[in-house]
Amino acid sequence: MCRVKESVVTTLLIVGGGAVDDQTVTAAAVRPPSLLPSRGTGHQVVVELLLHGPLTRGELGLALGLTPGSVTRAVRPLLDAGVAAELDVVLGPGLGRPVTPIELVLDRDVVVGVKITAARVWGVVAGLRAEVLHEASVELPSTDPVVVADAVADIVRQLLSQCPDTAVHGVGVSVGGQVDGAGRVRTAPLLGWVDVDLGGALRQRLALPVVVDNDVVSLVRAERWLGAARDLDRFALVTIGAGLGYALVVDRVILELPSSARSPIAHVPLGIGDGVCDEGHRGCASSVLATAAVLARAAGALGRGGDVSLDDLLAAHASGHAEATAVVEEAAEALGALLALVADLAWPRAIVVTGDGIGLALASRDVVDAAMRARRAADAEPVTVDLQATGFTRWARGAAVAAVETFVVGAR
Ligand SMILES: [Zn+2]
Repeated sequence: MCRVKESVVTTLLIVGGGAVDDQTVTAAAVRPPSLLPSRGTGHQVVVELLLHGPLTRGELGLALGLTPGSVTRAVRPLLDAGVAAELDVVLGPGLGRPVTPIELVLDRDVVVGVKITAARVWGVVAGLRAEVLHEASVELPSTDPVVVADAVADIVRQLLSQCPDTAVHGVGVSVGGQVDGAGRVRTAPLLGWVDVDLGGALRQRLALPVVVDNDVVSLVRAERWLGAARDLDRFALVTIGAGLGYALVVDRVILELPSSARSPIAHVPLGIGDGVCDEGHRGCASSVLATAAVLARAAGALGRGGDVSLDDLLAAHASGHAEATAVVEEAAEALGALLALVADLAWPRAIVVTGDGIGLALASRDVVDAAMRARRAADAEPVTVDLQATGFTRWARGAAVAAVETFVVGAR
């Protein structure tokens, strides 16, 4: 995959009164088109194989409600084009009649995913099953929308230059804020944005299809597709970091909020600690669990000014610093209380917890679990809590999944 193979084209330059010159130019920007069908039964087969493959013709027929003849007619062009292949014959169920599973050949189709934070832009180029092929990140000198759009366009070009012979289905960009269907960011508090046409700015710069997505929704897309929660009918995702994010998936549908800019869990009352959030709540989730609140208490505990990182706090906790441990455990208790609320009100089978503040939970998992248990009824249905230490690459991968869902699965 991503073999380096430059297309070479020859152009004729006509100069002045008809003098002709040959010039050979390297056209790395010339990319092959995708051979995947974007509509009709062929597209349905591709999506089914993408989500569930490899599958036999019989399984495809059952899943799509197609006759054997229709399946054969849909599959043949895919085999002929080389975008699908027959695997080795296996014995089928029941009487064990030999069957031939079919799988997609996806080594020439990619998407790009980009996650924007206030400090950096993180990007990946990924295959259609969101396997990361290349990754890169770049620091942002400011969050000015023009600066950010330029940085995103640069990182997309840089990533795609590493796989010039691939077909690019589109670019997914995730941002912490409220985004409309056209890619306009209504608000993004951590970037200081109000009504920024990020999608339009990127389409202009890249000449590629672009979808802009809320970052937590993108992350939950990746969990639903590929993560531990893939086979669960109902799961929740909680992110802890600069903000507190929440998403709920029911029967594989992500319940999207009317406004995803304001996290529904950021200000729920937990009654823990004596901190006050910027909205004046004492003991709400943000006042005790958001990174800024944790670091403010860490600075006091470690006897420093404002220059304390989460890593500093966790290192002090690991070395037995009692005050640092108190700060970490207060945050862990708050997380446990928050997860108890999610478990009792949304009834998920599992809760995935991630985000750049996840180190707090990993460092005191027992406190998280105990606080969650203590706040729930003794006979409450247990809920699996999956703490995932993930970097921003995973968020960028979520944005890549948004591109797959929009431009491959949703293609018509
Ligand atoms: Zn609050």
